[in-house]
Amino acid sequence: MQYTILYTSFNNFYSKIYQKLTFVNITSIIVLFMKKIALHWQIMTGMILGILFGVLMSSFSWGTDFIKDWVEPFGVIFVKLLKLIAVPLILASLIKGISDLKEISKFRNMGLRTLLIYIITTVIAISLGLSLVNIFKPGNGITQETVVKLRDTYAQNTQINSKLQEAQTQKQARPLQFIVDMVPENAIKSMSENRLMLQVIFLAIFMGISLLLIGEKAAKPLKSFFDSLNEVILKMVDLIMLTAPIAVFALLATVVVTADDSDILLALLRYAGVVVLGLFLMIILYSLFVLLIVKKNPIWFLKEIAPAQLLAFSTSSSAATLPVTMERVEEHLGVDKEVSSFVLPVGATINMDGTSLYQAVAAVFIMQVLWPEGLIFSNQLTIVLTALLASIGSAAVPGAGMVMLIIVLDAIGFPSDLLAIGLALIFAVDRPLDMLRTTINVTGDATVSLLVAKSLDKIHKPKPKEWDDYYEEVK
Ligand code: ASP
Repeated sequence: MQYTILYTSFNNFYSKIYQKLTFVNITSIIVLFMKKIALHWQIMTGMILGILFGVLMSSFSWGTDFIKDWVEPFGVIFVKLLKLIAVPLILASLIKGISDLKEISKFRNMGLRTLLIYIITTVIAISLGLSLVNIFKPGNGITQETVVKLRDTYAQNTQINSKLQEAQTQKQARPLQFIVDMVPENAIKSMSENRLMLQVIFLAIFMGISLLLIGEKAAKPLKSFFDSLNEVILKMVDLIMLTAPIAVFALLATVVVTADDSDILLALLRYAGVVVLGLFLMIILYSLFVLLIVKKNPIWFLKEIAPAQLLAFSTSSSAATLPVTMERVEEHLGVDKEVSSFVLPVGATINMDGTSLYQAVAAVFIMQVLWPEGLIFSNQLTIVLTALLASIGSAAVPGAGMVMLIIVLDAIGFPSDLLAIGLALIFAVDRPLDMLRTTINVTGDATVSLLVAKSLDKIHKPKPKEWDDYYEEVK
């Protein structure tokens, strides 16, 4: 009897709760819970759990396959979604940004400032890398035995060979080829490949300026169209970011199970340490810029930009991170769209401070091990120039920096028969370093957009938008 009463009251209680917990309610509870935790903490948790899960799975013989079959796809989908919206976002926001400027001279002014600051930060990064690698001399700690081991493990590696081939094609290009490549001949084709981002930027600038030249009345319908498209895409970024914690879990678990032997990683610890130290010093430099020039708190800057940094780290691609960088810089740092819509897409393709610092360290490290007679001052000067051009030419995708490193080495006359061994030397740690240098590349772009905005007085009070601002009205 007592049991029956107990059972019935429990059943009533349960069904009442169940009725309340409709799908919408459950979603709102999750959303509320997620809102309580800042996005960067959510992403960080996903990353740590991903690494732990990857380590755990590595201990099972079936672990790698399991992750590749059942976990990696979630990371891949996320990166695909970000890439999907990158091109329309650049088009919409840049066309709108330029047409909002009202005068072409303002655009010229902003463009020149941006390019100048980008060149300055890149030269600082390369010089910093060169100084550190010459001070710490990581190459001197590498024994002949390690060289042989790395050569045997990686010299025939298909990825290294394909990078060598890619560099060969780029080397054969004529001096003005990069300008020729910047000009699209088919708008649809340039929008269909993320590698052709500079062509999309060219198209957007061309359209934006023409839009200014047809006068306000005629420009209005197209401007409103791009305005609205821009809003829609930024909303898509918000929605995609809801899945970021799960995606980074998947991405990092995959990186861990496909990582190299830890013995080899340890042998390269000193070299990796120098790159990491350099990248860390770049963060300090950016913070100083933010503090002294922009007159804002660097902690605030790093906190607001953190989701973009964490994504750059997880995806190793500044291009894939671009939509999130734009959203953070505009809505959370308060940089005017007129500035961010130009500075960030251009920066993602041509400003790579992390990559250029890495190229300087890696080139000298390889010389220290394999070609010490090449370590003369004039060669180091050539590295500054070629690494600057190379970082401009690097695609904003995983591993692109290594292709350009080959071109840097080639420019200083590094013996071509040692090239494959040189790359084999640094290959094992390339992925983790790529993750870190991409983070710096993205942070550098965000810093420069603040600097340019400050110089043009275009920083406003940030107005972050949430994905569900209008949800109540439409649900
Ligand atoms: N992965 C880098 C980026 O997308 C480029 C590189 O250094 O390989 O910024």
